[in-house]
Amino acid sequence: MEVQTLKYPAIRNHIAGRAADNASADTMDVFSPLTGALISTVPLSGATALDEAVQAAQAAFPSWSATPIKERVQIFYRYKTLLERDMKALADLVREENGKTYDEARAEVEKAIELTEFACSMPQLIQGEFLEVSKGVEARVERKPLGVVASIAPFNFPNMVPHWTIPNALVLGNTMILKPSEQVPLSAVKIAELLKEAGLPDGVLNIVNGDRTIVEAICDHPDITAVSFVGSTKIAKVVYIRATSNLKRCVALGGAKNHLMVLPDAHPDMTASNVAASMSGCAGQRCMAGSTMIGVGAVDHIVNKLVAEAQKIVPGQNLGSVISREAKERIEQHITEAEAAGAKVLLDGRGAVVPGHEDGYYVGPTVIDYVTPDMRIAQEEVFGPVLAIMRTNTLDEALAIENANPYGNAAAVFTQSGSHARYVMDHANAGMIGVNIGVPVPREPFSFGGWNESKFGACDITGKSSIEFWTQLKKTTTKWNPESRVNWMS
Ligand code: NAD
Repeated sequence: MEVQTLKYPAIRNHIAGRAADNASADTMDVFSPLTGALISTVPLSGATALDEAVQAAQAAFPSWSATPIKERVQIFYRYKTLLERDMKALADLVREENGKTYDEARAEVEKAIELTEFACSMPQLIQGEFLEVSKGVEARVERKPLGVVASIAPFNFPNMVPHWTIPNALVLGNTMILKPSEQVPLSAVKIAELLKEAGLPDGVLNIVNGDRTIVEAICDHPDITAVSFVGSTKIAKVVYIRATSNLKRCVALGGAKNHLMVLPDAHPDMTASNVAASMSGCAGQRCMAGSTMIGVGAVDHIVNKLVAEAQKIVPGQNLGSVISREAKERIEQHITEAEAAGAKVLLDGRGAVVPGHEDGYYVGPTVIDYVTPDMRIAQEEVFGPVLAIMRTNTLDEALAIENANPYGNAAAVFTQSGSHARYVMDHANAGMIGVNIGVPVPREPFSFGGWNESKFGACDITGKSSIEFWTQLKKTTTKWNPESRVNWMS
């Protein structure tokens, strides 16, 4: 039998600072979506591997949480320089396992660096409170870590999304189990290696790979105190319900359907390039992708420019692949259905093939006009480089469509009118709003998180809001004046 050599060694879990022995686990093949080639395998771990990881994280917790935060951040300062040193290798890895263009993969690592920088500012942000609350009686409030926490990641940002949680949670004194997406498990291995090189003590970060089984085990594990999840709404709901029913703290970010409202007075060139970039960046596989545009009134001049912009986006050049063959088929099916339902395909990305990479999973940029709100493409997350354009006569009609969608990650308006922009800021039903910005990600120190079915649980996942999620308050009252009277507040 022919033995196939994989480009990357079989992925192993990372437990207590070492690559674990996965010999007993089933494995799944990992393909590069750029070429369709088999590049590695990933273990589908079970409860035993999780138990080992939790034990390692528990063992590391007392010493890690007792380390002063100013010392903990020193490791992350060093780690940041290692991310910078290995930028190219990290970006190449993202590109290979996820299918992004090199520039997109690099931007993802740059964002990981920004997230790490934010975590390094934690000592400036989390100092507690102190007050003499009555004569000689003092109250103080400190932020304390939760213990062993878990972070479950999706496929679309193999490097950045783990950095949404790892630096903040660890700098704040927690120890962690990371569960990467089984579709993109390579970046996490490198993250663990670099953190070890930066001096992170063994057991503070552990990685357990797998699919549904391991996620369910995380939600059920009695020694995991908090679970963060990023992925589709369907699974976010399952994870939120299961983790919280086991009395864990949970924040679960889900899918999205983001509406870009374009008014006739919008700057035509800027709007066209922003909308095209929003729908096609990372092949449309961003929870912040503007997948739906609502043209309000006479915007044909902008739609024409937008199509011209989208035509400059070429698969295999400035457009990466989608994650899998199934994703390609699902996206193309959406386009076909919309066309059959009466929408007009202005630019058709179906059947895209990249010469030399015929087995890669590519969908070309697609623009579909005259979509109506009842069509499936207007309602479901497509997660591909596809823009569905709906038309309304008024901004209120556009907002009614935006408000009615069950998600609430992002919404944006393109206009040169301050009052129209303000109206959308006030009335859009989403957690992140853009004015003349197609991907309104609130950069650090602001926090990232949507509303409605795009996020379940209190707190956002990044920025200052994440401090609430990853810590609990300890309130201590002290009295040093034995002569003071005892009263109801003593
Ligand atoms: P997914 O929900 O399929 O998978 C996410 C994680 O859940 C993975 O680690 C996976 O192993 C696990 N999982 C899958 N099926 C499961 C099941 N039945 N039970 C328990 N766990 C299961 O999501 P994906 O396809 O990897 O990522 C794309 C989705 O993530 C999109 O919907 C996108 O909008 C969303 N996303 C949201 C945000 C956000 O900030 N709101 C950010 C990135 C991605």
